Amino acid sequence: MADKRDYYEVLGVSRSATDADLKKAYRQLAKKYHPDTNPGDKEAEAKFKEASEAYTVLSDADKRRQYDQFGHSAFDGAGGGAGGFDFGNMGDMGDIFGDLFGDLFGGGRSRSRANNGPMKGQNLRTSVRITFEEAVFGVEKEIELTLKDECTTCHGTGAKPGTQTQTCSKCGGKGQVVFTQQSLFGMVRNVQTCPDCKGSGKIVKDKCPDCYGSGYISKKKTIKVSIPAGIDDGQSIRIRDKGEPGVNGGERGDLLVEVSVSRHPNFVRQEYDIFSTAPISYADAALGADVRISTVDGDVIYTVKPGTQTDTKVRLRAKGVPTLRNKQVRGDHYVTLVVQVPTKLTNEQKTLLKQFDDAMTGKDSSTESNQQDTTESKEKAKKKGLKDKINEFFE
Ligand SMILES: [Zn+2]
Ligand SMILES: [Zn+2]
Repeated sequence: MADKRDYYEVLGVSRSATDADLKKAYRQLAKKYHPDTNPGDKEAEAKFKEASEAYTVLSDADKRRQYDQFGHSAFDGAGGGAGGFDFGNMGDMGDIFGDLFGDLFGGGRSRSRANNGPMKGQNLRTSVRITFEEAVFGVEKEIELTLKDECTTCHGTGAKPGTQTQTCSKCGGKGQVVFTQQSLFGMVRNVQTCPDCKGSGKIVKDKCPDCYGSGYISKKKTIKVSIPAGIDDGQSIRIRDKGEPGVNGGERGDLLVEVSVSRHPNFVRQEYDIFSTAPISYADAALGADVRISTVDGDVIYTVKPGTQTDTKVRLRAKGVPTLRNKQVRGDHYVTLVVQVPTKLTNEQKTLLKQFDDAMTGKDSSTESNQQDTTESKEKAKKKGLKDKINEFFE
């Protein structure tokens, strides 16, 4: 197979496309290339499959994140290491067709589950902001959220205590209504959630006074979110059972917490590595020295070799971000050493620097500019040693 096209390119959307954008783009492509509308057209079929695959991945928040991070290698099993998954049988396609084409293609491809059976509740989404260090080492956060709970007065039925709910006459309690309709693709069976009972199959005559017939009470709740070490900006954490309540005994939906990580003044993160710059003095660079470099673990002492040039990159192993899968495995911290050129020199420093420069180029300026030096001070200077002298200049 030739190189796979970028999923966003396939759908013709930007990388920041919303779920609605994706759905719209995919619907258009699927309509255009669907095998039913292009019988025997191999190219259309290939395009249809390509678009379906792209949509399968991008419409799933977790898969999209993996794709954004690792590209196609996230799913080919060999690369990326993101625990690839298999598209071979297009196992998710049923769901997608249910969601997108339940009303278009009807028949065999419509949602097979009965609408008045147990249904999982909707997922809720929220976000939380954390610092750079919190993302590196993990943190516990508390989130305030309004959650629906089953009404204790009516036990979720929505009916006033002592009264009964009635079977919906429109759908006969099935929660779905079916009708046939002439469409773009010929006569189709159209299955829809019953508009009268909203899929529950039941009608409430006397509403429960506590929940106004909804069956739910909304309450503010504080939820603890444990954010794992290594999380990156834009990634989400799924908290099971903290979404909307299920319907007809179905389980609750999940809460998806998107994490935004604040910028750090010195550190920049890329995947699991951290990048920063560290200033070193000209003297330290020339002579070598132990310098302090700040890392997320605190300052470390790094021995700069004599003759170190500006822009020298230093790798501090395992001082980067822990990987999500294993805290013990960490990225590296890359430091760019930047040699500082001194500014605001005093006259004395300038003179000495000139002497130094002359010494480097082989000239001898001491006889001209430093005749006032006494023998004594020259002796002292010699004793101090070159390193101390230079260090004085560049403090
Ligand atoms: Zn109630
Ligand atoms: Zn109904």
